[in-house]
Formats: sequence, C-alpha cells, structure tokens
Amino acid sequence: MTRRIVLATGNAGKLREMRAILAGHDLVVLAQSEFGIVPPIEDGDSFIANALIKARHAAATAGLPAIADDSGLEVDALGGRPGLHSARYAGPQADARANNVKLLAELADLPLVARSARFRCAMVFVRDADDVAPIIAEASWPGRIALEPRGAGGFGFDPLFIVEGGDRTAAEMPEAEKNRVSHRGQALMALAAAMREVGW
Ligand code: IMP
Repeated sequence: MTRRIVLATGNAGKLREMRAILAGHDLVVLAQSEFGIVPPIEDGDSFIANALIKARHAAATAGLPAIADDSGLEVDALGGRPGLHSARYAGPQADARANNVKLLAELADLPLVARSARFRCAMVFVRDADDVAPIIAEASWPGRIALEPRGAGGFGFDPLFIVEGGDRTAAEMPEAEKNRVSHRGQALMALAAAMREVGW
C-alpha cells in the first residue's frame, strides 16, 4: 500500500531532490504547503533539534508521518559560526547576497588555508508528532570559503563554498552532482536507507 508522508519544507528544490531519492520507497511525498503549514520557530540548540521541531510540527498539522531537515555553514575561523543561524547571519531580513557579503568581510585578510568550513545537515523522520524514536541522519560536506564569489547555480553560500578536493565552488556544480555529494544529499540518502531498514 502506498503511504503518504509530508516534507516539512517550502523549498521546491528540496522537494524534488527528496522525491528522487525516495523514488523506490512506495511513498507519496507531499509538500507542507498542501496542508497550509506555517513554519514553526526554530529555537533548538542543534541541527537535529531544529529538524525535529519542523518534522513534529508538520506531522501534527498534516496528521501524517513527516521528514524535515536543518542545515547550515560552519566556518572554523569563526568558531563554527554562522552554524544554526546561517539563514539569518546578516540580520533577520538578510538575503543570500547580504550573508555572503558579511562572510567575506568577516574573513577579510585570511588566506585560503585558514578558511576551512563545512556545510552540515540533519535529516529526520517522525512517524507522528509524538514519535519517541525518530529516525535521524546527519552528514557534512567539507570545503573552504573562497576569496570572492563564483558560479551561478545553487543558493545561499554556494558561490563562496569551494568544495574539498577541487577548485569549484558549489555554485559551479551541476545541480544533480551537488545533490549527490552535498551534506543534504548524503543525509537524505542515509535517512532513506535507515527508513528502508525498518519497513519505510
Ligand atoms: P535551512 O536548513 O533551509 O534552514 O538552511 C539554512 C541556511 O544554511 C540557508 O539559508 C543557507 O544560508 C545555508 N545553507 C544550507 N545548505 C546550503 C547549501 O547547500 N548551499 C548554500 N547554503 C546552504
């Protein structure tokens, strides 16, 4: 029997990626917008805590199992900032451009060797809002912060994130390649495998 689950995101790209990775699972993945779900306040103290807040909120509202993720950028020279606060790094209304300008300013004068960083992602699945044994997967994607932005793809900090093992920024990668190797793609594949093991 095909089961329905809701994905706690308003991001169409994440929905596409999630549907592709869960394609063999006999699940219908619905967008939270179909249920009029208003995003909750993410006041957890970790990526996992925030992902669980989003997943439980979506499950409660939709009355369905839910998947949610939370992610961010950790820069070593900034003691791990912006981390949990990546989306609003440059202020409550900040867009990606403002965030990237602030990041370059904070790292000004630092050579490339001192600009190590990683994207991190937590991905969780709850069977219902009160699930006491959620399935949790985490992944990170190492790289360094470029001296100037490059590339037109992706979103957020992608134009400044030089992926480890090469000289391309994440914004210079084809979308399908990024989805395969990124923190979110890796966490999602791990989550899908763990779900499969317990019959989802
Ligand atoms: P969220 O998990 O959708 O709340 O994303 C948090 C923030 O982290 C985003 O707004 C971006 O600033 C940053 N971020 C997370 N993943 C990525 C990525 O794959 N590329 C670029 N920025 C990202």
